Amino acid sequence: MLEVIRADITTLRVDAIVNAANNSLLGGGGVDGAIHRAAGPELLEECRGLGGCATGDAKLTKGYRLPARYVIHTVGPVWHGGAKGEPELLASCYRRSLEVAEEAGVKSIAFSGISTGVYGYPADQAAVVAVETVRETLKACPGVEKVVFCCFSDRDREIYERLLG
Ligand code: ADP
Repeated sequence: MLEVIRADITTLRVDAIVNAANNSLLGGGGVDGAIHRAAGPELLEECRGLGGCATGDAKLTKGYRLPARYVIHTVGPVWHGGAKGEPELLASCYRRSLEVAEEAGVKSIAFSGISTGVYGYPADQAAVVAVETVRETLKACPGVEKVVFCCFSDRDREIYERLLG
């Protein structure tokens, strides 16, 4: 049910991929830029109509030219040392993304490493939050059958492999 893979998330054939977006939802660098490039300009058009997204929340769009049917855009916290609510906000990203997925009938979902790029969240701490929150939230998401943690480096993949056992 929980898997880890090292891949470019834009190539994955899953029902939904989770984007590490910013509050505007109007595109950025990192995984967000890659997703918008691969999905095509229609994705940005749909995002313009969403009115942004609060940190810790998640919003659904179609996947357009991606192999994934949907993109779930979530906004992680910027890391300020860990005492500014970062773990709670990051947990909220994973929880809200799964709730949105469940509501849309998503059976398979792949997460990028929310906040672990430009936003500076330490990868090992972020992975603990990700795995714990997904395990807990899945109990209330009977429709979601498979969750993939999509890592962009071998180092990140090893962190998740250790946590998943
Ligand atoms: P944030 O601003 O939330 O930190 P980033 O996009 O900077 O978001 O980074 C989030 C994570 O996504 C990082 O671990 C980065 O290595 C990873 N990443 C970047 N590009 C891709 C991609 N094409 N597929 C999967 N993961 C990616």
